[in-house]
Amino acid sequence: MIGKSAHPTGVLRANQVGGAEGAVPGSRPDEPASPAWALALLSWFEGHRRDLPWRRDPTPYHVLVSELMLQQTRVDTVVPYYERFLRRFPDFAHLAAASEEEVLRLWTGLGYYSRARHLWQAARQVVARYGGNLPPDRGVLLSLPGVGPYTAGAILSIAFNRPAAAVDGNTARVAGRLLALDATTARGHRELADRIEAAVPPGRARDFTQALMELGALVCLPPPQAPDCGRCPLAAWCLWCKSPQDRSSTGAAGARQPKPGPRVVPRAVLVVACGNRVLVRRRPSRGLLAGMWEFPGTDVREDGPRAAALRTALDLGIALGLGIAGGLGVGQNCGHLGSAEVDLQGPAVHYAHTFSHLRWEVDVYWAKLPPAPGILESTGMEGGAGPPTVLWLRAADLASQVPLPAAFRPVAAFARSLVEGGAPPGG
Ligand code: SF4
Repeated sequence: MIGKSAHPTGVLRANQVGGAEGAVPGSRPDEPASPAWALALLSWFEGHRRDLPWRRDPTPYHVLVSELMLQQTRVDTVVPYYERFLRRFPDFAHLAAASEEEVLRLWTGLGYYSRARHLWQAARQVVARYGGNLPPDRGVLLSLPGVGPYTAGAILSIAFNRPAAAVDGNTARVAGRLLALDATTARGHRELADRIEAAVPPGRARDFTQALMELGALVCLPPPQAPDCGRCPLAAWCLWCKSPQDRSSTGAAGARQPKPGPRVVPRAVLVVACGNRVLVRRRPSRGLLAGMWEFPGTDVREDGPRAAALRTALDLGIALGLGIAGGLGVGQNCGHLGSAEVDLQGPAVHYAHTFSHLRWEVDVYWAKLPPAPGILESTGMEGGAGPPTVLWLRAADLASQVPLPAAFRPVAAFARSLVEGGAPPGG
């Protein structure tokens, strides 16, 4: 078992870890001693760290982007998004200069889109106030949109190598089990953060924070999985491991409270096609999928899917008559169409999409409009004053034109088959 050869006092100087890999650069004899477990953790990390793209050059920008992407999202999922995002926006300045819509489009598929909006707003703030260079100041970090104590601690420690705790569910579970502290209470959380900060070996904050994260991801797993104490470098010191009878008090940091299942919301969505184009609209700037684009639709309440779809058609009539007229100049070509004149068909497709707190049960309806020259000739993205809220876009390149969330992928696929002349399944 790794870590069994600890100093008998349980406390080691940083430079007492054996071998060149264990040496702590910059440590001085007068610096406070780190707990032996902290040094054992560092040694383990040197042999087990995963090569992740944000670890190669941990600038404040890279750490901020990766930490926001990693919230609620698995590492494997994040890697390609991170790499693509960095190719397009290599630093705060590039991100700040982009449009919100482009940032959302590159984020499409990662979910939790408020993170993308916060990141973009943070970049604009960093450029406007600090010339694109984020200072190592906790107060400044906490003033950025989307940055809380955990992310501030991660940036301070990983990017600036400052001794700061980054306590989220993952690190709270590891340290909570190790030190028998319950981080689910405010007091326990504070004590845990203090103990972690005090344990950082001098000059090694960057690796220490990542090591704690890595141990939580690879070894000290959350329920319902069991921690793999047999291959844990902290087993010699871990109170969870040593005192099974005390787990009820320390387990709180490791256990997830059972969450209620997502609320089920039936939803009717409408594909309106005209030639090779389909109608999409921007969602409101607040709430679920704020600012993203969608096929027109509506939640279905007690009066059933068909009635709801008809309400959607009514929305469509309003969109056709009013929304498009100002932006694309095609309203005069189809503004006469009201919901009564749309020949609504379906449902053609049924699928479910689950968000963190709700689950859409989607029925897809469709309608084909007679050719309208204004729609067929438009490039789709030209507009009048202000950003458009309703657009006719080619079904084949929706994803490259607007941020269309993953929740609408099945609808986009159906829309493509509809305009390409395929028989609408189930329609
Ligand atoms: S010994 Fe077990 S419970 Fe303790 S930190 Fe390691 S994996 Fe987690």
